[in-house]
Amino acid sequence: ETLSNQIAAGEVVERPASVVKELVENSIDAGATQVDVSVKDAGLAQIQVVDNGAGIEPDDVPVAFLRHATSKILTTRDLFNVHSLGFRGEALASIAAVAKVNLETATTAGVGTKIQVNGGEIGTPETAALRPGTQVQVDDLFYNTPARLKYVKSQQTELAKIVDIINRLALANPQVAFTLRHNDNLMLKTAGHGDLQQTLAGIYGVTTAKSMLDFESQDLDFKVHGFTSLPDTTRASRNYLSFMINGRYIKNLALTKALIAGYGSKLMVGRYPIAVIAIEMDPLLVDVNVHPTKQEVRLSKEDNLAQLLTQAVQERLASENL
Ligand code: ADP
Ligand code: MG
Repeated sequence: ETLSNQIAAGEVVERPASVVKELVENSIDAGATQVDVSVKDAGLAQIQVVDNGAGIEPDDVPVAFLRHATSKILTTRDLFNVHSLGFRGEALASIAAVAKVNLETATTAGVGTKIQVNGGEIGTPETAALRPGTQVQVDDLFYNTPARLKYVKSQQTELAKIVDIINRLALANPQVAFTLRHNDNLMLKTAGHGDLQQTLAGIYGVTTAKSMLDFESQDLDFKVHGFTSLPDTTRASRNYLSFMINGRYIKNLALTKALIAGYGSKLMVGRYPIAVIAIEMDPLLVDVNVHPTKQEVRLSKEDNLAQLLTQAVQERLASENL
């Protein structure tokens, strides 16, 4: 069991940022409106995620660390109709297989529960007086899998990946107020008022956020809305492009190309806008079961969506006489 958890962990827990992603997604799934993330030494020493979500019932606490334990999917049919971010029930088990995890949780009505899981060894849950919500602390990531530590890059790189993942999750969830601290320094703070432009301000700064163009468009299958920068505010990397489908951050090359196509010759070669694009669609048209991290998705009618996006951006730029 410990070994198979460590193997599964390899797919889900590649680096500190993967832990942050899984924990924060759990907080969002639990309906949290405030999520505070603190990391020490780029997450290698410690990752802590505190939320004000629904919490876990005492009896369910040890179960949450078992592989394929998920409260989010009841039937195989649900696998094709995914609404929540997590659904494989692998994250907590995988993380706890390769780190020392302390979880403290309480529901609004119930008493609190604390549990420690070190390298897959599930400790005895204890009752504790706790505020409603969940706090997960992950210490000494990869302490028992030195081989994996080899793949971890410099702290600077790992921290950049953590910031990147929080940026995306914050943009995908403007209703959630996020903070990110590194070695006690505040790196990022979003308002959480449900306003995408305000969230953009928390991430890219007020000036950039205010200068971005909002656009929206829809057809029978898709609703697209978002913000994209003026052709004179561009970056040399695609890292400032964020695509969300039904509140989930995704990567999709066709959509990236479609956005860029909307700029036509207004964009210099090798330059990319800063943009956030939120797509709403029938979950049945999205296949998220391509990879355990759930970032690469397959879309039905991808060409139609791409066309819709290109046209929306084109028209918005034209309306500014650009
Ligand atoms: P999944 O998210 O795929 O269901 P996880 O291993 O990430 O699997 O989590 C296992 C279970 O633990 C979840 O289904 C959920 O019931 C519970 N859980 C984990 N984190 C939280 C949290 N922050 N708040 C409430 N429940 C949580
Ligand atoms: Mg999860």
